[in-house]
Amino acid sequence: MARIMIVDDLAFIKVVQRDILEKHGHEVVADASNGQEAIENYVQTKPDIVLMDITMPEVNGLEALQKILEIDPNANVVMCSALGQQNLIVEAIEKGAKDFIVKPFTPERLLAVIDKILGQ
Ligand SMILES: [Mg+2]
Repeated sequence: MARIMIVDDLAFIKVVQRDILEKHGHEVVADASNGQEAIENYVQTKPDIVLMDITMPEVNGLEALQKILEIDPNANVVMCSALGQQNLIVEAIEKGAKDFIVKPFTPERLLAVIDKILGQ
C-alpha cells in the first residue's frame, strides 16, 4: 500500500487514476492540477509516490519534478506522458524521475510501476 499524490491538469485522468489506485488498496493523499499545486501539496502531505503529468499550465511536470527533488532528494516521482513525448521522458529520467507511464495506460502498467517502487 502506498500513499500517492496524483497530478494532472485533466480531471478525468485523475478520476481514472484514483479509481484504479483505491481499488487496489492504495491511498490517494493529495491531487493537483498543475506543477505549482503539486509542489505545495507535496510539502504538505509527503506522499510515497507522485504520479506527475508532464504537460500542464503554470508550472509543468518537469519543473515540478525538479523542485520536488530539491525539497526531497528521495522523492519517488513517476512521469505520466502522452504519446510522442519520448524526449521529455528521457529528460525527466535524467533529472531523477523514477519511472514513467505513457497515456493511455493500462491499470496493470500503473500498478506494476507502483509495486516496483515499493519493492525498492
Ligand atoms: Mg496535461
